[in-house]
Amino acid sequence: MRASRYLIATVKETPSDAEIVSHQLMLRAGLIRKLASGLYTWLPLGLRVLHKVSQIVREEMDKSGAMEISMPVVQPSELWEESGRWQGMGPELLRFQDRHQRDFCLGPTHEEVITDLVRNEYSSYRQLPANLYQIQTKFRDERRPRFGVMRAREFIMKDAYSFHVNQESLDATYAVMHETYCNIFNRLGLNFRPVIADSGSIGGSTSHEFHVLADSGEDEIVFSSDSDYAANIELAIGTPSISDVDIDVEHQSLELVDTGSAFTIDEVAKKLTISRRRILKTLFVHAADKDGTRTDELVALFLRGDHELNETKAQTIKGLTSTILASPIEFADDELVERIIGCPVGCLGPHGLSKLGIRSIADISASEMRNFVCGANQADHHFINANWHDECQPDYTIDIRKVQEGDISPDGQGTLSIKRGIEVGHIFQLGTKYSKALNATVLDENGKSVVMPMGCYGIGITRVVAACIEQNHDAQGIIWPAAIAPFQLVIVQIDAHKSESVATISEKLYQQAQSLGVEVLLDDRDKKTSPGVKFADSELMGISHRLLVSPRSLADGVIEYKSRVGSEKQLINKEEISEFLHCLFHQDSE
Ligand code: ATP
Ligand code: MG
Repeated sequence: MRASRYLIATVKETPSDAEIVSHQLMLRAGLIRKLASGLYTWLPLGLRVLHKVSQIVREEMDKSGAMEISMPVVQPSELWEESGRWQGMGPELLRFQDRHQRDFCLGPTHEEVITDLVRNEYSSYRQLPANLYQIQTKFRDERRPRFGVMRAREFIMKDAYSFHVNQESLDATYAVMHETYCNIFNRLGLNFRPVIADSGSIGGSTSHEFHVLADSGEDEIVFSSDSDYAANIELAIGTPSISDVDIDVEHQSLELVDTGSAFTIDEVAKKLTISRRRILKTLFVHAADKDGTRTDELVALFLRGDHELNETKAQTIKGLTSTILASPIEFADDELVERIIGCPVGCLGPHGLSKLGIRSIADISASEMRNFVCGANQADHHFINANWHDECQPDYTIDIRKVQEGDISPDGQGTLSIKRGIEVGHIFQLGTKYSKALNATVLDENGKSVVMPMGCYGIGITRVVAACIEQNHDAQGIIWPAAIAPFQLVIVQIDAHKSESVATISEKLYQQAQSLGVEVLLDDRDKKTSPGVKFADSELMGISHRLLVSPRSLADGVIEYKSRVGSEKQLINKEEISEFLHCLFHQDSE
């Protein structure tokens, strides 16, 4: 490719509306342009990277035995009615009508369409297992599109769906996909971790997310220092390293103390000169009725003062208790709490709640507290030496706390640490959620009709590009891993208008690199583009290798080489350049 004929859309200034480095660099290096909120055009340079990511994913999926297909982005409402998601899904699902007033949506995911296809095309256990995938556009009307293509409304996903005759077969394919994902992210040169995940609204049981480790990640992921345990914080479990559980501790007698204007856990801890973990934290959230609709009824949640509520755990407790909380968790507003409890927030506690008909849930660590401090449900007062007993007892005790750094791993091996991650892939065992709703069955070996258990496996192709930049950049710009660099080599020619030999030699090098199968960009932009700009652009765009052909270097009989990663420049004898190129790219492909 010749830069003079190519859209080099680099920008010097950092765009003000781009908060994270990958978004800034994708705009500055000329990979993408914004059309509207969450909608992006991929420019030629960006598309080269995107195609490389897709190709790696495609190769590994094909290797795993999956079959590529392509399904429509536009989906009829009837299928979504069948699965129950036409009503169930919120405004993320973009719905519209055609000219005949028929309802359609833009596919945010393709479980319905694939299940419809498979129920029509597959009839016997002999055809199974089957794993079908596509690399295709999705649309989700995200509440908060941000960070460029990281959380866009229109984006490209690789989505695969597997169908089975029994759970064993699903387990086997799930394991293959887990391995395939590791191969993909290794080939992409990413530092990633698979973690146990919440299967979310999509339903199902077993699930893993693949996270690229980066400080800008929206998720928190938890690892053990000594074992393979790794989980999304939403469902990570751990044991606090310091606990007050001491069964032998003698119960002291309850005492009411004036704590004045100390309302927060920190203020109460300071006032009473005790540690935060000796204080019970009481939160009020809204309950939901049996259809999951939020009600005005309040439910009290108890946590140790140094612990935080894990909202995902709290909203998924339904089924474990007869109490269902509104999902997502909705905290009661202060006025409502004051009206119902008759005391300002800041002095709330467990005493007397059951008399008011208020149900309560304690986190396990909170239920283990002894001689603790809690709000007295009286203005400006707290209890000290409170203990759980008949009149002050949670209705349920369940793990609802966020794990913390230093907690003991649930397998007892090592302690937990927390890092930020970007979710680039997600695999689920869906079970029969969709196949049952859409009646997708095959005949088993006894001629009996069985509903097929399903798996589904996603990778955010466009998000991978951004995640990769988050992990691979410096002050000058992007540093692409070799496997997905848009070009492997850039040849920068300086003052070709003044020196004919610069023009001929760089042209010769360009031809030579091409004949070696190297993806090469010849920066032949004319004198209006200064050498400084050419250098800066090549670094910003992250091209792995650079050759410089200038009148000065040619006068010395050399060509200058620089790798994007190192700062060292190397001078290569003109006569040896061809062998040098050969070695460089021969090594690269090894
Ligand atoms: P998130 O939690 O980030 O919203 P999700 O769990 O809703 O993602 P999945 O339904 O698991 O997403 O989709 C599979 C993959 O698609 C995700 O792992 C992610 O890489 C990608 N993805 C999801 N939503 C977006 C988006 N809005 N923009 C870009 N990529 C996305
Ligand atoms: Mg997900």
